[in-house]
Amino acid sequence: MTAGGRGPFRVAVIGSGPAGFYVAEHLLSREGFDVTVDMFERLPTPFGLVRFGVAPDHEKIKNVTRTFEKKTASNPGYRFFGNVDVGIDVTLDDLRRHYHAVCFASGAQTDRQMGIPGEDLARSHPATEFVAWYNGHPDFRDCQFDLSVERVAVVGVGNVAVDVARILCRTPEELASTDIADYALEALTRSNVKEVHMLGRRGPAQAAFTNPEVRELGQMPGANVTVLPAEAQLDPLSREAVETADDRSLRKKLEIIESFTTGTLDPSKPRNLTIRFLVSPTELIGDTTGGVCGMTLVKNELYQTGNGSLRPRATERTEQLPVDLVFRSVGYHGLPISGLPFDERSGVVPNDHGRVMDGDTHLTGLYVSGWIKRGPTGVIGTNKPDALETVACIVADAETGVMLQPESPDRDAVTRMLAEKEHSFVSYEDWKLLDKLECDRGAGQNRPRVKFTTVAEALEALKAAAGPS
Ligand code: NAP
Repeated sequence: MTAGGRGPFRVAVIGSGPAGFYVAEHLLSREGFDVTVDMFERLPTPFGLVRFGVAPDHEKIKNVTRTFEKKTASNPGYRFFGNVDVGIDVTLDDLRRHYHAVCFASGAQTDRQMGIPGEDLARSHPATEFVAWYNGHPDFRDCQFDLSVERVAVVGVGNVAVDVARILCRTPEELASTDIADYALEALTRSNVKEVHMLGRRGPAQAAFTNPEVRELGQMPGANVTVLPAEAQLDPLSREAVETADDRSLRKKLEIIESFTTGTLDPSKPRNLTIRFLVSPTELIGDTTGGVCGMTLVKNELYQTGNGSLRPRATERTEQLPVDLVFRSVGYHGLPISGLPFDERSGVVPNDHGRVMDGDTHLTGLYVSGWIKRGPTGVIGTNKPDALETVACIVADAETGVMLQPESPDRDAVTRMLAEKEHSFVSYEDWKLLDKLECDRGAGQNRPRVKFTTVAEALEALKAAAGPS
């Protein structure tokens, strides 16, 4: 089918992370659906959290970009418009003039707050900023993290907390073979960190990290990993839940955690990572210079809520944990998108299976996918079925004629609009050139790539590679 017999159905996808690429892939591979997809990305480089979220020592996970290229970017129906900020360089009204449907896949761009005193002291940072910094995200490359300290706490036991703890514990040699940003490699090579404490507010059975990630912590050449035996033991409610759940993967996770209670510390390893359970920070304590020097932890117990889940509740027992650097890794949070409704509490755009909803009304032609649709959960692959659901709505609506009515749906009108705005964009071909330049820079150092970490640097490199105009 086409857009009412007047050329292909035209979709704008906002965001070029996994969520956006899976939407494009499902659209372009749809049998009998004549569609073209233009993907808009604020930065000059594609792939969102695959480039700026996946840890540098997890190179294999980044191979998913090859699939994005093969299945989507090489499709003649696909175009990439990098360095175009929707909401600033191009408005939603601009998009309405050119597309039959607009799908936002722009992710969850900020961090969740813990809401405790001292959270904003110096040397207390959102883990999301540290992750973006070591991955060379242009918005975060100038962040400063004081790695001259010895004691660090990472609050939360999700996979981001694991990534942060692991990167802090990696040896300079291990980091030197990755695509970590140059400045981060230098700072982490000089790091003084000796103790890392990862803090879970619930028990081992509720830990959000996944098995391969927590297992990997036990395989680091430069760090011992410890769990306090008393904290590895399940409380009666968790034990009962584990026994009735019959979940092999959960049992494996508990075995891995248990294995960390018995090891002897290898004194030749320069760092110690301790994973704690059933503790919550209630206050970060500042020194005379306004920087963190410790935290008060309260010991928690679990109780069962009406829906059967086990939640933490503070007991009277507290302890002081001396730490001089804190990474708050308690989840991402979505930001509002100009022109779209937003649910502040959950940080998502209200939607029905991907259709953007204003109350009970679907806002015609507007869709969401990924973290801005369902919240910041799941691994890269989770975005695939999620995108399929959104695409099913887009296609069903197209078939029943529910779509935007663009004045200029022809493909060239978009490039003309950007030219009229005197806004130059980065095409997928440009990105391939940048990619090659980054990989070439890395090859000399036995690294997968050396990233361009400012927008200006990336655009300059492209200009130089294109030669005199
Ligand atoms: P997450 O998995 O939701 O974990 C958040 C952690 O913060 C949980 O341990 C949570 O505990 C804790 N937390 C929340 N509020 C807290 C509070 N007020 N005080 C103390 N602790 C609090 O989030 P994430 O680690 O940011 O990861 C986001 C998503 O990306 C996840 O789906 C993750 O699996 C994925 N990811 C995957 C990889 C990978 O595959 N290698 C790497 C990075 C990220 P409760 O459980 O008690 O709420």
